Amino acid sequence: MVTGMVDIDPDRLRAAFDDYSAIGATDDDGLHRLTLSADDQRVRDEFVSDLEDLGVSVRVDPVGNVFGRREGTDADAAPVLVGSHLDSQPYGGRYDGQLGVLAALETLRALDDHDVETTRPVEIVDWTNEEGSRFKPALMGSGVYAGAHDLDTVLETTDDQGTTVAEALEEIGYRGDEPVGPTERPDSYLELHVEQGPFLEEHGNAVGVVDGILGMAWLEVTITGDSDHAGPTPMHTRSDALVAAADVVTAVRRLSTRLGDDVVTTVGELSVEPDSINVIPSEVTFTVDLRSYDDATVDEGVAAVEAELAAACEREGVDYSLEKIWQIPHTEFSPGVRDAVEDAASEADRSFERMVGGAGHDASYVNDVTDAGMVFVPSVDGKTHNEAEFTEWEDVVAGVEVFANATRRLAERDE
Ligand SMILES: [Zn+2]
Repeated sequence: MVTGMVDIDPDRLRAAFDDYSAIGATDDDGLHRLTLSADDQRVRDEFVSDLEDLGVSVRVDPVGNVFGRREGTDADAAPVLVGSHLDSQPYGGRYDGQLGVLAALETLRALDDHDVETTRPVEIVDWTNEEGSRFKPALMGSGVYAGAHDLDTVLETTDDQGTTVAEALEEIGYRGDEPVGPTERPDSYLELHVEQGPFLEEHGNAVGVVDGILGMAWLEVTITGDSDHAGPTPMHTRSDALVAAADVVTAVRRLSTRLGDDVVTTVGELSVEPDSINVIPSEVTFTVDLRSYDDATVDEGVAAVEAELAAACEREGVDYSLEKIWQIPHTEFSPGVRDAVEDAASEADRSFERMVGGAGHDASYVNDVTDAGMVFVPSVDGKTHNEAEFTEWEDVVAGVEVFANATRRLAERDE
């Protein structure tokens, strides 16, 4: 049984946060640290040096995921894996990803401070290319680890300069030769992350205990009408692709309230041909992003988009095609990991709520391999993926304290 809490050191955590944030810092307190860049190399070097100072053994796999292992007392026990990602969005924030890695690092340091020997090993990880902004797809390192992406295909992926992932890994010295994927199935995985939404702040809670991640479908729609002159062509003879598209964009927005409470719908890309001030649009292409925790609702939403599209195109006398370009079911995290987080939050007397995450995370892929879970900390105004991303320091401390103690509980559990 676990008795007594492990105290973290908030000052040491702050110092580490400031040190890491200086690598790839922007003028406006943000972070520009694209995956496998020179700054990613610098921050990885600092991370590895911090791990070596702790005496943990470091290994790097072929896609550049960095692992550090603190041994437990039972040599046969499966490890608890903890971590997140050190890459950032272009001109992104300092909290997304980095905070999760530093929460895990502070956890290892706090265990050492108090000479805590856990039964299970605790392994820390920095996943390569979570963000997907330089190389696609996102969640690259965890996806390879979980077997969702093929290693060779990923290594040949290029950025917009034509550099491959393999070349970029060689360049920064992080193309490891350890086996890909779990050599042993971890007991569990825990990741701390900023919420990236407004709910914890709105509800005044310190910690989010994450039940899972929304499922999602991506659609690509093309509407084809007739281009003609904007002056001489009477209104009643027009087949305007953009007018039909406008109806669909509005309908997609309204669908969210009709389908269910947690449904979010977005048209994020739209292009118009020929895109000229005095020509009736002949072709419009746009995307739809549709998410819900309920996979059947996502399917229902896709069918509803198609019905709205068919009706709008019929009214305007235009044709359409609709392609589903991606769909992933919702992620349901492990009840056992969730319990460990809730118990740790109760013990630390920190206010918490159960919630569902709207964005993809490395934990989603790791959940395919083992029991995964996440801890969210509040995001001021829900802002993320830009330099204004901010979490109050007292919320960081509360979250990391809960995270460290949940990790310890997992590292002591039996099954
Ligand atoms: Zn992230």
